[in-house]
Amino acid sequence: MALIVHKYGGTSMGSIERIKNVARRVAKWRAAGHQIVVVPSAMSGETNRLIGLARELQEQPDPRELDMIAATGEQVSVGLLAMALKAIGVDARSYAGWQVPVRTDSSYTKARISSIDDQRIRADLDAGRVVIVAGFQGVDDAGNITTLGRGGSDTSAVAVAAALNAAECLIYTDVDGVYTTDPRVVPEARRLSVISFEEMLEMASLGSKVLQIRSVEFAGKYRVPTRVLSSLTDPLIALDEEMKSGTLITFEEDEKMESAVVSGIAFSRDEAKITVLAVPDKPGIAYSILGPVAAANIDVDMIVQNQSVAGTTDFSFTVHRNEFQKALDVLNGQVLPAVGGREVVADNKVCKVSIVGIGMRSHVGVASLMFKTLSEEGINIQMISTSEIKTSVIVDDKYMELAVRALHKAFGLDQAA
Ligand code: ADP
Ligand code: ASP
Ligand code: MG
Repeated sequence: MALIVHKYGGTSMGSIERIKNVARRVAKWRAAGHQIVVVPSAMSGETNRLIGLARELQEQPDPRELDMIAATGEQVSVGLLAMALKAIGVDARSYAGWQVPVRTDSSYTKARISSIDDQRIRADLDAGRVVIVAGFQGVDDAGNITTLGRGGSDTSAVAVAAALNAAECLIYTDVDGVYTTDPRVVPEARRLSVISFEEMLEMASLGSKVLQIRSVEFAGKYRVPTRVLSSLTDPLIALDEEMKSGTLITFEEDEKMESAVVSGIAFSRDEAKITVLAVPDKPGIAYSILGPVAAANIDVDMIVQNQSVAGTTDFSFTVHRNEFQKALDVLNGQVLPAVGGREVVADNKVCKVSIVGIGMRSHVGVASLMFKTLSEEGINIQMISTSEIKTSVIVDDKYMELAVRALHKAFGLDQAA
């Protein structure tokens, strides 16, 4: 008997019929003698609908109230799933995040989990129940409801698995694993049977929404065995077959994984590029520009400062597209008058395309093949950033799919390994 956490995403919970299938799958695991905690997302489209309602009232919705509204999607899911389980004779009990409680900080819409109390969950498991914990939500120390950022149910599930020291966290979704790139964009993409933790962390941070980045961070920090697999198979397929399916995140690098130089391609449209032109090239300039941006709680990603000409330089960086206007307001309102640059120019029609692979550590020429491939497609590179196991470029977002397809081919990812 093992304690196992299941997470089901929006599509997997998308209709009453699908929820019944989730219940059948969970019942199968329970019948095999396992203790099961389920962390579901809201039904597909529901979180968008709720946020849309809020935006009808306020263009920039009040963050506390937005979380109050957005968290309701998961509350519906947990209740429905508990009913579906009871209807087939499985004792189950649902919990909202605050009831567990799943404690978070107070950063509404992107809160971080600080601790999870396991007492109620364990008591129910000991009483033979399936426990259903709402994903995506928690409660801060003052009792306010918070949410964990889009895709946050992944993080809820892995964090619950870590808190309970679960044997495995199974992330059931609408694809049957982690692919070399998003299979909806590149049909030739191949499923990886394993992916290293470091590569998964990069893929997630660079935009592959199959797992929220913080879920991967939790998996690494607490060494939670985590597998991504399909919720759309026959819920009654044999357990041993299901346990081997999908993609396992591994914490050890084996030789086979080293042999693939590039394991995957990630991309993100959530990008915006901002340049402050002709700022004085002197000590403290990066701080004068990015200090106020950080103080406004805006995350900055790539940063480029050019060689100065006649004592001035151009300073560029990227932010999440959602925070583009807020960043521009800070720059025009506070930074420009203080540092004395010429003007702020900006473009929110850019995207980031990245190649990822631990094999890049030991191979040269990987980035240059990336640049050659993009140049052959006539795609202009606006910014570049590298780390040991990834190279990312910012390009015009109309070229995103072309760039991803061309790179997928150039690095041989459509060929069987
Ligand atoms: P869920 O609702 O189950 O959380 P998401 O929509 O958040 O599902 O994530 C699954 C989706 O992630 C897939 O449908 C796929 O389009 C997308 N995706 C992006 N990159 C990848 C990748 N490398 N491998 C698999 N899926 C990916
Ligand atoms: N329902 C939330 C969202 O749509 C959380 C999740 O699906 O993981 O972002
Ligand atoms: Mg998701």
